[in-house]
Amino acid sequence: MSKQENLARKPEPVSAPMQANRRADKASASATVDDSNDVSVMAAQSTIMMVDDEPIILETLQMFLEDAGYDNFITTTEPKKALNMVVLKKPDVVLLDVMMPEITGLDILKQMRSKEALKHIPAIILTSATDPETKLQALELGATDFLAKPVDPSELALRLRNTLAAKAYQDRLLYYDGLTGLPNRRLFTRRLNDALVRAKHVAQACAILHIDLDRFKQINDTLGQNFGDALLKAVSARLIDCVRHSDLVGRPGNEEEETELSRFGGDEFTLFIPNVDRLEHATLVARRILKAMAEPFRVNARELVITASIGIAVCPTDGDSVDTLLKHAAIAVSHAKERGRNTYQYYAKELNTRSIERLTLENHLRKALENRELFLAFQPKTEVRTGRIIGAEALLRWKHPKLGLIPPDEFIPLAEEMDLIVPFGEWAIYAVCTLSKRWQSQIDPVCVSVNVSSRQFHKSDRLMLTVRNALETTGLKGKYLGLELTESILMENPDEIVRTLKTIKDMGVKISIDDFGTGYSSFSNLRTFPLDELKIDRSFLNDIPDNTDDAAIVGAIIAMAHGLGMGVVAEGIEKQEQLDFLRDRDCDEYQGYLSSKPVIASEFLTLVAKNMKKLAD
Ligand code: C2E
Ligand code: MG
Ligand code: MG
Repeated sequence: MSKQENLARKPEPVSAPMQANRRADKASASATVDDSNDVSVMAAQSTIMMVDDEPIILETLQMFLEDAGYDNFITTTEPKKALNMVVLKKPDVVLLDVMMPEITGLDILKQMRSKEALKHIPAIILTSATDPETKLQALELGATDFLAKPVDPSELALRLRNTLAAKAYQDRLLYYDGLTGLPNRRLFTRRLNDALVRAKHVAQACAILHIDLDRFKQINDTLGQNFGDALLKAVSARLIDCVRHSDLVGRPGNEEEETELSRFGGDEFTLFIPNVDRLEHATLVARRILKAMAEPFRVNARELVITASIGIAVCPTDGDSVDTLLKHAAIAVSHAKERGRNTYQYYAKELNTRSIERLTLENHLRKALENRELFLAFQPKTEVRTGRIIGAEALLRWKHPKLGLIPPDEFIPLAEEMDLIVPFGEWAIYAVCTLSKRWQSQIDPVCVSVNVSSRQFHKSDRLMLTVRNALETTGLKGKYLGLELTESILMENPDEIVRTLKTIKDMGVKISIDDFGTGYSSFSNLRTFPLDELKIDRSFLNDIPDNTDDAAIVGAIIAMAHGLGMGVVAEGIEKQEQLDFLRDRDCDEYQGYLSSKPVIASEFLTLVAKNMKKLAD
């Protein structure tokens, strides 16, 4: 063997214990380190790097090790090149001679330990047994073990075996997810990086699928983390099954070409498909995953359905680096969620622009309250029988100094998602109580209602406290405040809801169910709750009186609500015929453009004053 470097026999050695594990993965998702403890397998798989300026020593060591079953070697007699070779080849263990010209083995060790990617590679120092000082120094620098020179073959084999077994175990902890046994984010990104380099060489397109479970947090929150963990295990088993059958994308028999599944973190999984010469390959896999997920899961004697959203980024079209591809797959998945979940979405540049816009809006929205950009608009509630304005609904508005007025259907869902709706809603309650109390010196008292998001309603203690404090600090009587709740709360645990509603009602506050008819509450469960008013959703009123079905439904809702002692408000009334119909059916109040669009506080006062004057004339 020459004095020059003698590189690996295998063209591209990947960390061998990991390769062993990779094979074990294929057989079982929960492969253990025992597989790689099989001495002969481990020896055959491991790549050993040796650095010594004496070629004869390298040759002797290699001979000993070949006898012990090892056959992947990287050797060099040029210590200055060693570090670079470690970076490139990532061996499983490095044997370092200490005394070498120009740069010592300890220098190399020190450099290895200072690099994140090389930190964990074990290094065995070859030193004379009579040199305790060097040993101490090497230990401090992070040497894994020592070998006394001249090297004894059985001692060498033993040390090496122990070191490699320890590394395999450490790799397991470092690179695999403890719950599912799948490769973790660290290993996935590392392998992805290697795969992208290979793909570039052969000019091959590949794809990353980012799989995110829908509403998993809700499951974790309601059914507990143990249940969540068990579900994640079941999901991962199903994904492994899906991927195993993705022979259409992997080239059978070629290890390096196979798909790679990982648990990326939490409820996110990533899948790498190495060869997508036709885009449909990725589509087929995505569809197969969605189909597999659609089957109900049985976990801890409970059956449940969970869906997933999938974002797909293709290399090189959507990027050729690990970071870009992962980022783009994540953007695509959030778009899939926006589109209603349980679907897949390819990354597209426009998505990036949109996600940046959304991110900007989110950042602005976060500051909207402290920057005093929120205000309220008021829409009068008019008595059908008399035409008198007897109340108002307060509606949240956001005006950003640069972006202008942002439509409520854009920022309110965003505020819901970001959980900002809770502080916004609390602000609205205080603002309404303050204004309403002030108005009472100018107009006859009216009842002003505030919309309460279901998120806010579920923090019931906080809501009750807010309402109580707002009434007390402003001195407003409870009967002049109303809360509009969504119909969905009527389908939840009735005892808890009834308790909250009763407490609010005891303060004199009026409770309405908003957009009634759009949810799935049955008439019978209305009886259970202490409600004052139903607000019939605009969609039922749009086409009355012409649409006889809608007319019948609206008539029935009014009759039923009255039967249960509740008032009825019709929403979105724009035409006189609609109002005439409502008068016929004895509806109590209406809101809508026919009376007025939502207006700012001062205009609302003017409207009320005009209305009073008109009725008095
Ligand atoms: P909502 O509570 O059902 O409010 C009624 C919506 O109907 C308002 O839309 C109002 O402007 C609109 N509207 C009223 N009359 C007519 C009409 O004659 N024709 C038509 N086409 N529309 C009419 P807006 O202001 O865009 O609010 C939308 C939704 O945003 C509200 O629906 C409510 O669910 C939510 N929202 C508004 N303010 C708040 C708030 O302070 N907190 C919470 N949690 N949600 C709010
Ligand atoms: Mg409302
Ligand atoms: Mg409504």
